[in-house]
Amino acid sequence: MQPLLELKDIVKSFGSHRAVDSVSLSLNPQDKTVIIGPSGSGKSTLLRTINFLETIDSGSIMFEGRDVGYRRHKGHLILDKPRNICKLRAQIGMVFQHFNLFPHMTVVENAMEGQVTVQGLARKEAREIAMSMLDKVGMKDFADRYPAALSGGQKQRAAIARALAMRPKLMLFDEPTSALDPELVGEVFATIKQLADEGMTMIIVTHNMGFAREVADQLYFMEDGSFLAQGEPDEFFGKHCNDPRIQSFIQRIF
Ligand code: ADP
Ligand code: MG
Repeated sequence: MQPLLELKDIVKSFGSHRAVDSVSLSLNPQDKTVIIGPSGSGKSTLLRTINFLETIDSGSIMFEGRDVGYRRHKGHLILDKPRNICKLRAQIGMVFQHFNLFPHMTVVENAMEGQVTVQGLARKEAREIAMSMLDKVGMKDFADRYPAALSGGQKQRAAIARALAMRPKLMLFDEPTSALDPELVGEVFATIKQLADEGMTMIIVTHNMGFAREVADQLYFMEDGSFLAQGEPDEFFGKHCNDPRIQSFIQRIF
């Protein structure tokens, strides 16, 4: 099977600090990969390089078997053909810790925006797709509300619908429940789990071990910019439970 996404030896520094230090990762279609690890270990930066929100210093990113278009220029990697990047980015949905909904647009307008401005769809068609995605995440009845009038869990489900409305091939979730009150975490995890069960390929960064264990095919533990450990959930918690760094991390977050 051809991997959907292949990262090889990704390096990303901020000044002299290597936020991502030679990370490799491969995802086949329908894979669910979960990344855990302490704050500041480079998880968000890694996700952001996949979606071109950060450019990489070295390494390579392949999407559907094609190099995403970095080229070397005067010793640095630069992104080639920015238009291709727009197309690629539209195939990779991202959900953030703080929702990042457009506050001046209603829920349905939020889910239409990218379809109209990036994909060039007519508003009528974009609205239909947006409504079907809102229906999928249980947010159809809130379509005409503004984000300020939603609970955190509703905001995050609206943000998931907005990402899905672009019909992405890969979804990236960066601590999607970290900003939520505990009683609202379940509805967001249930939505993500439903997408996972429907076959969506995804990378999830989370501190929730229970959810990680439930949804992951592969778990990675990241520290200081690198993957320290990797495995299937049962194997991971079994094999690595004696590693003091992972043990101390898991104890701190429970
Ligand atoms: P995590 O998501 O695991 O908490 P991040 O990827 O946000 O970690 O950050 C990894 C490291 O990179 C941290 O030391 C952080 O301070 C640094 N960093 C992240 N983004 C930037 C930036 N835009 N400028 C400078 N340093 C950054
Ligand atoms: Mg982060």
